[in-house]
Amino acid sequence: MSYELTIQPLGQTIDIEEGQTILDAALRMGIYLPHACGHGLCATCKVQISDGEIDHGRASSFALMDYEREEGLALACCAMAEGDIEIEVEMEEDEDALNLPVRDYTGQVTRIVELTPTIKGIWIKLDDTQGMQFQAGQYINLQLPDDMGSRAFSIASPPSVSGEIELNIRIVPGGQGTGYVHERLKEGDGITVSGPYGRFFVKKSADMPVVFMAGGSGLSSPRSMILDLLEDGFDKPIALVYGQRNCDELYYHDEFLALAEKHANFTYVPALSHEPEGSDWQGFRGFVHDAAKMHFDNDFRGHKAYLCGPPLMIDSCIATLMQGRLFERDIYTEKFISAADAQQVRSPLFKAI
Ligand SMILES: Cc1cc2nc3c(=O)[nH]c(=O)nc-3n(C[C@H](O)[C@H](O)[C@H](O)COP(=O)(O)OP(=O)(O)OC[C@H]3O[C@@H](n4cnc5c(N)ncnc54)[C@H](O)[C@@H]3O)c2cc1C
Repeated sequence: MSYELTIQPLGQTIDIEEGQTILDAALRMGIYLPHACGHGLCATCKVQISDGEIDHGRASSFALMDYEREEGLALACCAMAEGDIEIEVEMEEDEDALNLPVRDYTGQVTRIVELTPTIKGIWIKLDDTQGMQFQAGQYINLQLPDDMGSRAFSIASPPSVSGEIELNIRIVPGGQGTGYVHERLKEGDGITVSGPYGRFFVKKSADMPVVFMAGGSGLSSPRSMILDLLEDGFDKPIALVYGQRNCDELYYHDEFLALAEKHANFTYVPALSHEPEGSDWQGFRGFVHDAAKMHFDNDFRGHKAYLCGPPLMIDSCIATLMQGRLFERDIYTEKFISAADAQQVRSPLFKAI
């Protein structure tokens, strides 16, 4: 059974299936609605229902209060239509967004490589001969078996290789999804992903120098973005400041050293936070934000900054960039939130300790 969903102020009407969320229906038509956690917890996707009836699904009572429900507000990532509906949304104009429609893709795992003791590289060849069209920096949702749902992973390969996508997946201690990928997934296995998702891509139209700051498996999006920029012949300075714990965890190090050698406009600054004293490591010792501060002499003016990785790393980098006189409008982030982090944004009433 399907209904009509009208999105204002666009004035566009699309189909929405019974049981499908408003957000999913819109993204699959290439219409971007602001959203973040996707689980009814953060309230980024709040919309006004101006006509029709909906089911609020699993919207958390903290993210969507009772009085807001009475005022006709809903969370697009959870709300499902119970008939024809109309919604009002604050649309964001972004001239760099290609607004590619989200689709389901089947494929086969062609290669699994242990990039570090905690991160695996997974290559998925897609059955669709056209491959997946995506913007460098975007992510997919990987469907897991046995009712485990799906998990978000950024695409680490550039869009030019659309038939086979690469993921870099870090195992989360106690994590079901990443545990499955690390312990049970094998080469040759069939797999389903949906995508592309997200607004984390380079604002090429700004034509400004870029600095990427990444931590852990948060290298995935920046790697795709950097390879894409270099393939495109982007001629402004590009810097990658990449943080890992120690030498064993530092992956794609040789690749970035070679890229820096080959491209005069690309600089690579690796930083290790827990490398044992007295080892052969000659590079920076400390966290990403400190390495960036030193490299840029605490002055980030004139850059666009793209931060990717765990929430704590991103918060430290934002503080450093703003102290180094970069405005918030020039900082873009992709936080690798897990279920545990999502629980922490559950209630605006809870204070972090
Ligand atoms: C846009 C995006 C892109 C991402 N890209 C990447 C990527 O390229 N590479 C990558 O490695 N990761 C990436 N991530 C992170 C990745 O999605 C998570 O690590 C993954 O979802 C974890 O799944 P899991 O099932 O293994 O662990 P989860 O089930 O999420 O559990 C994580 C931890 O939290 C605990 N936990 C679970 N539920 C709760 C709860 N309710 N309360 C408290 N604790 C709980 C678990 O025991 C475990 O220790 C990305 C995340 C986002 C949002």
